[in-house]
Amino acid sequence: MIAENLENLRKRIEQTCQRCGRRAEDVRLVAVSKTFSSDAVREAAAAGCMDFGENYVQELQVKRQALTDQSLRWHFIGHLQSNKVKYIAEYIHLIHSVDNLGLGKEINRRAERLKRIQDILVEVHTTDEATKFGVLPDRTIDLLKELSQLKNIRVCGLMTMGPFSDDPNDSRKSFRQLAELKKEILAGGIENIQMQHLSMGMTHDFEAAIEEGSTIVRIGTAIFGGRVKNVN
Ligand SMILES: *Cc1c(COP(=O)(O)O)cnc(C)c1O
Repeated sequence: MIAENLENLRKRIEQTCQRCGRRAEDVRLVAVSKTFSSDAVREAAAAGCMDFGENYVQELQVKRQALTDQSLRWHFIGHLQSNKVKYIAEYIHLIHSVDNLGLGKEINRRAERLKRIQDILVEVHTTDEATKFGVLPDRTIDLLKELSQLKNIRVCGLMTMGPFSDDPNDSRKSFRQLAELKKEILAGGIENIQMQHLSMGMTHDFEAAIEEGSTIVRIGTAIFGGRVKNVN
């Protein structure tokens, strides 16, 4: 089931890339395994997935422990509290959801102790919805400038979520805004800031995201099936 879903998904990603003149290698798939078991992750890994995304520190810890025999790259994609950073600082591949300086500082402090450079993305709030996390677009450049001073983190790009809507065209506005912001940031030339990644696109809107320049899609449902509780 999971292997078949992955095969279909990869085909759709390839077709979308072809349609908009991009290379499929330039779009990385992060399999969002939240609420699914470590056995499901194992199955996806056997089918060639290497990158997995989780939203909750405790859940991530349990799965990682169960899967130490696999060489996987874990992505943190949910809201991250500063006091939880210490649990994942040793191994997390990419933190997608940095939206304030305090969190950036804590990640930097932990990384410094571990003699690591931690890759992060800055999460931008591109919708009108009050419940979502992320820094506001017009505050993003200031935050990037502050984060750029921290020696043990490396900002690799931006992340966003589209609105809660089943219509992928509603997400397109968010994705365009993120791509525009990236251009603006590159034009501003902030030192120590890289912009190679735009993490955007989920099961219902990844095609629109790829069309708008996504380099990382975060997909759960299309791989693992529907979740019992809908955790964002
Ligand atoms: C759950 C989640 C996803 C995956 O959503 P699907 O609709 O299941 O593909 C992607 N990104 C974030 C931040 C999530 O919380």
